[in-house]
Amino acid sequence: MLKLVQVKEGVKLADYDLYAPLASPLRELYTESTTLIPKIKGKKIWMINSTQHGGGVAEMMPRMISLFRQLGVDCDWLVATTERKGFFSFTKKIHNLIHSEGIPEIAKEEKELYEIVNKENAEVLKSFVKPGDVVIIHDPQPLAIGYFLKEDNIPVHLIWRCHIGHDKHTDQTRAAWNFLKPYAQVYSYSVFSATEYIPGFLTGKARIIHPSIDPLDHKNRDLPIYKTVGILCNSKLLTEYQPVLTPTFPDTVKRLQSDGTFQSALLPSDMGLLFKPAIIQISRWDRLKGFLELMKGFVYMKQNKNRLKISERDLRQTELCQLVLAGPDPEYVEDDPEGMEVINELKNEFLALPRELQASIAILKLPMKSRKHNELIVNVLQRVATLIVQNSIREGFGLTVTEAMWKIKAVIGTATCGIHEQLRDGIDGLLIKDPKNIEEVAVKLHYALAYPKERDVWQYNAQKRVIEQFLIFTQIRKWLSVISEINSKITTQYLHNLKSTSSS
Ligand code: UDP
Repeated sequence: MLKLVQVKEGVKLADYDLYAPLASPLRELYTESTTLIPKIKGKKIWMINSTQHGGGVAEMMPRMISLFRQLGVDCDWLVATTERKGFFSFTKKIHNLIHSEGIPEIAKEEKELYEIVNKENAEVLKSFVKPGDVVIIHDPQPLAIGYFLKEDNIPVHLIWRCHIGHDKHTDQTRAAWNFLKPYAQVYSYSVFSATEYIPGFLTGKARIIHPSIDPLDHKNRDLPIYKTVGILCNSKLLTEYQPVLTPTFPDTVKRLQSDGTFQSALLPSDMGLLFKPAIIQISRWDRLKGFLELMKGFVYMKQNKNRLKISERDLRQTELCQLVLAGPDPEYVEDDPEGMEVINELKNEFLALPRELQASIAILKLPMKSRKHNELIVNVLQRVATLIVQNSIREGFGLTVTEAMWKIKAVIGTATCGIHEQLRDGIDGLLIKDPKNIEEVAVKLHYALAYPKERDVWQYNAQKRVIEQFLIFTQIRKWLSVISEINSKITTQYLHNLKSTSSS
């Protein structure tokens, strides 16, 4: 059922001012909000999505809400969930169809279930909203809430924020969009992450806003070395050779073992994260994130190290390097039933490998009970990586890429629409054309490892690009602009009505 999430203030706007790289995007935010905020004065903004934990949307929500509030905009976060069995499996199916995966058929019972859940949540929402409020619904799961509000003539402004999309039309995407069309059409505006994602019937009413990161949140803030080491020890990713500042986290990282169980990440031995080059991918456990193909590519690179070798040093690096695949412990992610299946597929592939290869691959379940601890773990893993990969087969946007670029890391992404919006091939990193092509994955991994000077160029370009385009300040500016458009639309409508009344 729909529930209100309490959002803490967190980092203050003034805190960002201390950081030189943030000066320019902050200045733009202040300048634009001076004009835009008076236009939306008095309106309450409701952000609604379907999970409080896991995934890019849930990650971004508290920071956006806090910054809106600090700028003087009244904003709250509601999570629309349900106990009804099958709902999230169905919405996952829609998610996959939008990404052109799965069987393009939707049963009558699925539609009924989808509508029942959304109608129930719409009923609860009525007790929160008042006339004139702006309701921003995220992604397809709660989309039909807007439809039911409209059906009951609840006088709120509706915006649909769709974080996913695919740049090709297929039977699958058509099935998904035909299903979503009646619900999406009632919204005043929709917002997508790339122009290619906008379905034809929403053209004209759609806007583009790129997702973004908060440079000072626990996942992205800079960490001195002793804190990085401390967090690795606290989460049991590193043996505590010396006393560290903070106590061990109540929930620590779990690592896949050779017997198929998940145990301490220090077993069978310390991974040596501070000693060896690490290739790291952190994502939700979703087939479309390409974990399995990345693991196969890594194994291929190791098995062909002599053929790929360009120098003795490079050979040593390929021998030493390890692969870390990490994602949220699926137990805690409400709207992603596929997680366990993906872990099992990876497990089967891992168990079939020889022991020496198993020793160079760490499959990690990251604890999710504490958002802060989870974010700090993601932060330190990204910071100790030599290479960060996002081998997505499809990708809405890929905030993990933004996070890595911000941290001045060499990134290999895939040529999916979401990732190439951010990462220009050969300029800010490398792009894999076909993430299912194991040899290509292997060759690109090896290339990025073998040429440190190129990595340097990519990673500094990457951070610059994030500062210019993908920080939270840019996103807030764009939201303010879309919300204020609603206002001017109302004014135009009002003037239009006035004119027709006076001329009749
Ligand atoms: N993430 C996290 N903890 C994890 C795994 C992932 O906080 O254990 C975060 C990751 O850092 C990123 C987000 O989840 O911020 C994933 O967003 P992305 O846009 O990459 O993909 P999505 O999950 O939205 O498809």
